[in-house]
Amino acid sequence: MRSNIKTIILYAVLIIGIIIVASSVLRNINADTKLEYSEIIDLFYEDKVEKFEINSRNILTVKTIPEKTEDGQIIEGKTYTRTLRSLELFLYDIKDYLDGHREGKIQNLQTYDIAEPAKTSWLLSFLPYIIVIVVMIVFWIFIMNKSGSGMGNIANFGKSRARMAEPDKKRVLFSDVAGADEEKEELREIVEFLKNPDKYRKLGAKIPHGVLLQGPPGTGKTLLAKAVAGEAGVPFLSISGSDFVEMYVGVGASRVRDLFETAKKAPASIIFIDEIDAVGRHRGAGLGGGHDEREQTLNQLLAEMDGFDSSKGLFILAATNRPEVLDKALLRPGRFDRRIPVELPDLKGREEILKVHAKKIKIADSVRFDEIAKAAAGASGAELANIVNEAALRAVRDGRKFATQADFEESIEVVIAGYQKKNRVLSNKEKLIVAYHEIGHALVAAKQTESAPVHKITIIPRTSGALGYTMQVDDGDHYLMTKEELANKIATFTGGRAAEELIFHSITTGASNDIEQATKLARAMISRYGMSEDFDMVAMENVTNQYLGGDSSLSCSFETQTLLDKKVVELVRREHEKATKILTDNIGKLHEIAKYLYEHETITGEEFMKILNEKPDE
Ligand code: ADP
Ligand code: MG
Ligand code: ZN
Repeated sequence: MRSNIKTIILYAVLIIGIIIVASSVLRNINADTKLEYSEIIDLFYEDKVEKFEINSRNILTVKTIPEKTEDGQIIEGKTYTRTLRSLELFLYDIKDYLDGHREGKIQNLQTYDIAEPAKTSWLLSFLPYIIVIVVMIVFWIFIMNKSGSGMGNIANFGKSRARMAEPDKKRVLFSDVAGADEEKEELREIVEFLKNPDKYRKLGAKIPHGVLLQGPPGTGKTLLAKAVAGEAGVPFLSISGSDFVEMYVGVGASRVRDLFETAKKAPASIIFIDEIDAVGRHRGAGLGGGHDEREQTLNQLLAEMDGFDSSKGLFILAATNRPEVLDKALLRPGRFDRRIPVELPDLKGREEILKVHAKKIKIADSVRFDEIAKAAAGASGAELANIVNEAALRAVRDGRKFATQADFEESIEVVIAGYQKKNRVLSNKEKLIVAYHEIGHALVAAKQTESAPVHKITIIPRTSGALGYTMQVDDGDHYLMTKEELANKIATFTGGRAAEELIFHSITTGASNDIEQATKLARAMISRYGMSEDFDMVAMENVTNQYLGGDSSLSCSFETQTLLDKKVVELVRREHEKATKILTDNIGKLHEIAKYLYEHETITGEEFMKILNEKPDE
């Protein structure tokens, strides 16, 4: 902080100095320097002065008398001006002359005028400058703080904000990254190269210029990059894409230049640009102002990536969860020529991630990680880490020394479905409706052979807004789903509402999320997976945002859209009717299990299946 204030004072003194010098130079420019001071005094004593005046700023103006040249012509008198250094001195110098004038000895002087010198003190005359400087400095500090660089970086504004990984900090190693075996394998090869460039060079093998890690948020992209840094043992410069983005044109580009210069100083180094989509968004896509700056930054990045020789041991790693917005030029061979997809973990991966994080907490021996992994289908690495942490927190809250299976199961729901709301009370009627609704889902799911079995059903409200919650478990992970499985899923989504209709003959708002999901699925089946007779294998939607929610845009004619909407409705209606039929056929079980849930609030998959498979009492 002290040195910052010193820098500011230094700058201020410099600026004031410059202004003083400049203003005194300017004053002298005003003066006509053709005549020396002594020559002007001579003019007076030679009686060549017709009139003179001195204004309040000490500027002397002298007009001489007309003169006759040798050939008899009369030329006009000249005017000279000069800034007097001291009025007193001047008056002293012409004292005899003025005395002579008073005594009538001087003939040619007609009038003269001497104004009072302006009574501005030295300080006062500089006051406006000082005010301007102070305002400028204040404004400057304000901008610096605003742009997030702090005062310490006044001199480093155009420097990159890359952080060197510190060797003494706890290093992340590949063993800290669970699952993700293919990803680690590819990165390990690069680490090998950076450690032993000669081995590869001898063979003539070329390492890629850059590698792009792409995948949904929380899948461990940043973690993988840190592991590369930890393993490689070379300088690792990490920077976030948004660090390049400033409000000033040219700053981003100069930061990129600086980043590469720093990296090139070491014999081998890694540059890691996290969230590269902040700078790498394809050009011409900017909304509103400020995209010129980004384009400039991107162009600089492209130029730098072309301008280095990867055999020297500089390697660029980047991560993004929006690869589709990146400029095509970035993905061209010679830049990020290798892309590594980092996907959500599968069942085995989830189990391993849970175990890695569980090492940091105390857990009971009875905890079954495979069960937890199964129940946390679709969770990312970050969510799994969160689940483990929540379980530990719960154990502490309840005064236990170890986290138990129950802690983990509850924390899955906390992380995935929001906190349990103990103080939010449903009326009994509402609770009954929710119980039937949830059992509706579960029963439809269970009765369709290919649908996933139910893991847990609860009617304890969550902060996420869901009143009840049926946890579905996929038996193992599978990436290919048949048309029937998808249709069954839609039927399951409609099962909740179907139960409400069947039992209460009225419907509630509780099904909004089900409706959304069913619609999404039905739409995707028809428009993207080619699962309808009407459209065969024609895509009518393009996914524009693969990893963040999967937004899609329609790419078909207006008539087709109308037809598509109709087909979606037909599909959902068909499945809804199917769900109603399943529930009607099993209405005894629906009552039985719903009552059980109503009383117990939470039932497990096993309890559910047990009641379902019991012979009804005769
Ligand atoms: P991303 O950069 O892909 O959004 P991060 O690398 O920031 O995700 O991951 C966030 C956190 O999630 C990590 O700090 C780590 O605790 C956890 N995590 C994610 N993936 C894994 C994994 N494969 N193994 C262990 N922990 C993981
Ligand atoms: Mg990240
Ligand atoms: Zn529902």
